[in-house]
Amino acid sequence: MTEELAPLGAFEYAAAPESRAIVSLEDGYGLYVGGKWLSPAETYTTISPADEEPLAVVGQASAEDVDAAVGAARGAFEGEWSALRPAERAKYLFRIARLLQERAREFAVLESLNGGKPIKESRDVDLPLAAAHFFYYAGWADKLDYAFPNRAPKPVGVAGQIIPWNFPLLMLAWKIAPALAAGNTVVLKPAETTPLTALLFCDVLRQAELPPGVVNIVTGDGRTGAALVSHEDVDKIAFTGSTEVGKAIQRELAGKGKGLTLELGGKAANIVFDDAPLDQAVEGIVNGIYFNQGHVCCAGSRLLVQESIQQPLIEKLKRRLSTLRVGDPLDKNTDVGAINSAAQLQKIEELVAAGEQEGAEIYQPPCRLPERGYWFAPTVFTEVAQSHRIAQEEIFGPVLSVLTFRTPEEALEKANNTAYGLSAGVWTEKGSRILWMAQRLRAGVVWANTFNRFDPTSPFGGYKESGFGREGGLHGLEPYLHFDA
Ligand code: NDP
Repeated sequence: MTEELAPLGAFEYAAAPESRAIVSLEDGYGLYVGGKWLSPAETYTTISPADEEPLAVVGQASAEDVDAAVGAARGAFEGEWSALRPAERAKYLFRIARLLQERAREFAVLESLNGGKPIKESRDVDLPLAAAHFFYYAGWADKLDYAFPNRAPKPVGVAGQIIPWNFPLLMLAWKIAPALAAGNTVVLKPAETTPLTALLFCDVLRQAELPPGVVNIVTGDGRTGAALVSHEDVDKIAFTGSTEVGKAIQRELAGKGKGLTLELGGKAANIVFDDAPLDQAVEGIVNGIYFNQGHVCCAGSRLLVQESIQQPLIEKLKRRLSTLRVGDPLDKNTDVGAINSAAQLQKIEELVAAGEQEGAEIYQPPCRLPERGYWFAPTVFTEVAQSHRIAQEEIFGPVLSVLTFRTPEEALEKANNTAYGLSAGVWTEKGSRILWMAQRLRAGVVWANTFNRFDPTSPFGGYKESGFGREGGLHGLEPYLHFDA
């Protein structure tokens, strides 16, 4: 056993950087309103988190700019868009999906440049899934009466959509595709740190000849988001981001009769039983927490491992960690890229320091982090207690907290002992145990013998402080419709 788990020998890779020549950045970008580019009074510079290099100047939309965008969306809704036959609406969505596929490499490179995620993830996960969402919802556009029989579905009107920085283009697709399929128009605000793929998406809208005003993109920080939320002529808000901001939005909208869906944080338990295939479980654990640097709301950030297999599992996990390649997001061999922003790095560092102070045992594999940019080594904490901050709070970084359990009841109790309820994972060879756990876990998604699998046909969303409403599948259309019957 010890011999089998000896440290791996150095396995050197030649650098394999994806060329960034396919992306041609403008020096500056305006706000995409009514199919035209508006010049905002205020601007800021968006950077690459991997080396802090400035990439482009983008707009900081003011309340007046947001008002113009909502006006354009209202005009398009009252005009051409809602009068369009649903099958015609579908054609635009199909075109957008095809164009995203055709320009996938350009989008993937830009996503990695601006957000810091490894190119193999933006190329193999973000882009194919973003296109798949447009394809999937294109198919529903002319079938809403069949999807919701005898309920006379109608679009709600203008949707305000606010998205985070962890999956910029994919979150845009999650929001825009169902909204348009249901016949709404949209004002979308990307996250402050990752506006560039949303701005490139405006060029896809131009190519698809989407009528002006159907989709409007306003960049900016939280002030822009707040202006969108409080705008009187927005019929529905869809928000993905932190629980704190989600609660503020809910307070702001209370009593106004507007639609609201919130997809907020998580602290998912990834639960490994003693009969699980350990090597596969290790891959699932790694995918669960180090995918996208752990900037994943449904990340498996708490590993619950059955006590009898703790030692071999942790040994295997540490050994696997030593093979992860941290570095240049554009290198095709990179497994863990850059942390998205200085602020996020600071938050991770603070929580990791708290974990050490509270007595948990830290492990980080030897790895050389680049000197410039924002980086954090893959980290595992053992000896974690339920009360530790690292077991309770969302770290949103490549940091795993390991806890143990003896019985399925204890695993369940610990897994559900969180303010969140977005996702969970169960690793066991017994189907009956998977079903027993899945029925009792308070989590919107439960993965069995896998983790972080996404599909446009499958609803996604949370319980408790992870929010409400579902995105994906038929469920994802409902918040964008109102029903006469
Ligand atoms: P936020 O909730 O602040 O950001 C999400 C989006 O909301 C961004 O577009 C943001 O703009 C916008 N926003 C910020 N303030 C307001 C407001 N008052 N009204 C309306 N919109 C607003 O998340 P952060 O980016 O600050 O990340 C903080 C923490 O949130 C992370 O450490 C992580 O724990 C969690 N998080 C969870 C996500 C999830 O998918 N569930 C995604 C991102 C973060 P801006 O970009 O300018 O801040």
